Amino acid sequence: MPDKAIDPVCKMEVDPATAPAKAEYQGKTYYFCALGCKVAFQQDPERYLGEEG
Ligand SMILES: [Zn+2]
Repeated sequence: MPDKAIDPVCKMEVDPATAPAKAEYQGKTYYFCALGCKVAFQQDPERYLGEEG
């Protein structure tokens, strides 16, 4: 079942099964293409999530 996630930092499509990094924020799990994106996200989640979701 194709269940892609979008890396909120760089907007890349990420496969949750193979994502190198993930983080939980406000009850949701976000997946990242790289550890650097996760770090950036955790420093300022609101900036990347905006009003969406
Ligand atoms: Zn990324």
